[in-house]
Amino acid sequence: MHYKAKVIENVSRCLQCGDVIDYSGRPDRRFCSNGCKNRYHNYRRFRRKDLAQRSVVGRLEKNYEILDKVIHLGLESLDRITMAYMGFDPAYSTSYCKLGRKHVYTCFDIRYELTQSKVKAISIIKDADQDR
Ligand SMILES: [Zn+2]
Repeated sequence: MHYKAKVIENVSRCLQCGDVIDYSGRPDRRFCSNGCKNRYHNYRRFRRKDLAQRSVVGRLEKNYEILDKVIHLGLESLDRITMAYMGFDPAYSTSYCKLGRKHVYTCFDIRYELTQSKVKAISIIKDADQDR
């Protein structure tokens, strides 16, 4: 058996470009240069922010599409299970307020109320409503 011959590669590679890191500097370096270090962190920061924004906007757009479809079907309320089945996610809205016992939400220019079991009073906000 050649256990001792089994050598673990004892070089570190740059997390950005994959080049072997020159160990003339600190022994715990993760990047071959400051340029690679900056590119690595900038890209990750950008991707995180971009993905977070895309997922929120994407969910709002999906909700809007569903609410708009319901309105065009001539309905103004639907049970939450059906809405969820269509892809509606009640965690995403563009505004919320409590009016008495009503929980009133908007998704851009569509207004709706949420109850335990229903999405109801779905309607397009008219200019007059926004002036109140
Ligand atoms: Zn590098």
